[in-house]
Amino acid sequence: MKHEAKFAIPPAVGLLLLLTAGWGPISQAGINNHIGEPVIRVLLDKQISTASLKINSSYKLISRDSAEVFNAKKTKGTIQIKLSQNGINIGEQLFKTKCLLIEPRSNTPFAINKQSYRGSCELVINDDGKTMSIINNVALETYLAGVVSAEMPSYWDKEALRAQAIAARTYCLYIKSNFGKKRNWDVMATQANQVYKGIVAETLRTNDAVKSTDGMVLCCKQDSGTCEYFPAYYSSVCGGHTEDTKNIFGDSFSPLAGVPCPYCSETARLSLFFWPMAKFDKNYVTEQIIKRYPKLKDLEKIENIEPIKVNTYANGFKRIITVKLTGSSGKTGILRAEDLRLAIDPTGAKIQSTSCTISRSGDEFLFVSGRGFGHGAGLCQYGARQMAREGKKAQEILNYYYPHSRIKTLY
Ligand SMILES: [Zn+2]
Repeated sequence: MKHEAKFAIPPAVGLLLLLTAGWGPISQAGINNHIGEPVIRVLLDKQISTASLKINSSYKLISRDSAEVFNAKKTKGTIQIKLSQNGINIGEQLFKTKCLLIEPRSNTPFAINKQSYRGSCELVINDDGKTMSIINNVALETYLAGVVSAEMPSYWDKEALRAQAIAARTYCLYIKSNFGKKRNWDVMATQANQVYKGIVAETLRTNDAVKSTDGMVLCCKQDSGTCEYFPAYYSSVCGGHTEDTKNIFGDSFSPLAGVPCPYCSETARLSLFFWPMAKFDKNYVTEQIIKRYPKLKDLEKIENIEPIKVNTYANGFKRIITVKLTGSSGKTGILRAEDLRLAIDPTGAKIQSTSCTISRSGDEFLFVSGRGFGHGAGLCQYGARQMAREGKKAQEILNYYYPHSRIKTLY
């Protein structure tokens, strides 16, 4: 799927974009806008029935079903959005549509549930007919202004922030081109993809990181000669060695095969680099795993979790890759360690990584001697920070964590 040529940047488009570079207006975030810039459809919420809306300008309401356009005047205070049996209510007015686009005039920001965003907002009634999704359509560079400081502290070194901006741009475009066609949004606004907080996340330093890397994306040269995007994953602290994505997410990409990381240990605070023992009751573990993997129901109560593949690197760093689960029924199941971690602890706040040992004590599973924070694939953010402190440029940081990749400019 990921190696299909359609995801490459065609040279003709590259040339066209180059010719139009710098011609676009400056957005209110101080970020450049470009002709041909991709629009990112960010899923802000997927299961709401009401919301509040505030726009400090007049705006258009466009029914996606009928293409009908309704011009709305500026309103003082907030407007209530409510899902009804026949469509969507905006204030007192009912729109008989399944999908309504709210387009503020002259790029005025809008607030949904008190959170401010740029671009436009789309309300889509879900297939269940009882809930709606809220989608923010926003130009790529403006989207990144709302991502970089949500994913990396804005006070970090400039070159680390620039590397982060390029990785986030690449990741987003990869997800959009590979998954966006099958759904009405491209990325979620959460850790499931990249954290996007809209206007509140915009800072001068992170906006500078976005502007100074305008349109730069990573790609990986294929045998066919094309240079294709790959999902430029990143995580907080790798703990000593980044991991091959095939062991984490099941996909292989040559820039994501894993590299030793002598850097994050230098800069991550101890409480992030090493994590304390996490304990979970066997019944809870069973419940969490079966909720996410119903096929494992036959195991009944999970009595044992045994690592069956552990990667041990030359620098001594270890990471569990696969585990075998044994249930009270005597049946067994296999899971990727990363899937096990997130099934038991979806936020990853307690089992911070798969670099740990797993043991049992009475009716509990213990995750001990933990190291690192996050899935460990791709760029190590604390490692990038340390490299930047040592004077490395963004490009050197990216070349290190994503070997075999190169930077291509979109516009
Ligand atoms: Zn690292």
